[in-house]
Amino acid sequence: MNERHVGAPGQVKEVTSLANPLIKDIKALALKKFRDQQNAFMAEGLKLVIDALDLGWQIRTLVFAKAGRGNAAVEKVAARTVAAGGTVLEVSEKVLVAITRRDNPQMVVGVFTQKFLALKDIRADNGDVWVALDRVRDPGNLGTVIRTVDAVGAKGVILVGDTTDPFSVETVRATMGSIFAVPVARANTEAFLAWRGGFSGLVAGTHLKGAVDYRSVDFSRGPVLLMMGNEQQGLPESLAASCDRLLRIPQAGRADSLNLAVATGIMLFEIRRGALKLEPIADQQ
Ligand code: SAM
Repeated sequence: MNERHVGAPGQVKEVTSLANPLIKDIKALALKKFRDQQNAFMAEGLKLVIDALDLGWQIRTLVFAKAGRGNAAVEKVAARTVAAGGTVLEVSEKVLVAITRRDNPQMVVGVFTQKFLALKDIRADNGDVWVALDRVRDPGNLGTVIRTVDAVGAKGVILVGDTTDPFSVETVRATMGSIFAVPVARANTEAFLAWRGGFSGLVAGTHLKGAVDYRSVDFSRGPVLLMMGNEQQGLPESLAASCDRLLRIPQAGRADSLNLAVATGIMLFEIRRGALKLEPIADQQ
């Protein structure tokens, strides 16, 4: 392993061997067991890494491809990583392919410390929208929900029960960077229900047997907690019974139900309808 100085006030370690222990640790982040052990996760892409740093996430390791050497943006991120006490690795294409398990990997990968919001720290004010996901299983669904929560300006996501990992590579990819902007809390059903008891706003569940058309509800008063059910089983009785309203999205055709992330998106845009305005598009020239 060679060390050299960059324009950044720190050092870059050059790594070409897959047997390097630092690389082994990063590769292990593909497995939840090791993500939990290291309390870390991986995000791919220069823009994501910059966004994460801007939003105050703690970077542990920055990995970049040899092709990034001399790239001003990469050098700047490398300097920020060193300033934050992180390690910077310049690696071969082979190493980057192995870390990301992709044939055409991004030029930059960041390893960050995981962060969960504690339920007790959630403050729900008027106009705030939170989404509770019951036992969400699919990383693509979870990532898409986090991205949509970000897009509509909702406040965050609460994972209830045994769910897929918000910090898995698949989920992080599906969030397209929103993992760094959207607070995520987690709780077992019991703790969630205790917290829900103190929630002062409207608790709107969605259910295939819901009696109320989601378009008929006034969401403008107070905070809203939107509760979405598991992909296979929907909301269990204990959670459904804790909702103020059980809402249904009318459907035509033969499909039994909507995909969880699609249903969440429809609900969120309806709940946030009054708050969302089209901004003029900046002149491209
Ligand atoms: N077989 C499941 C069931 O019986 O509920 C289907 C679950 S659906 C794939 C996943 C979640 O998306 C549901 O629990 C509900 O929260 C939401 N959802 C999907 N389609 C919906 C609809 N038409 N109306 C209300 N919620 C819906």
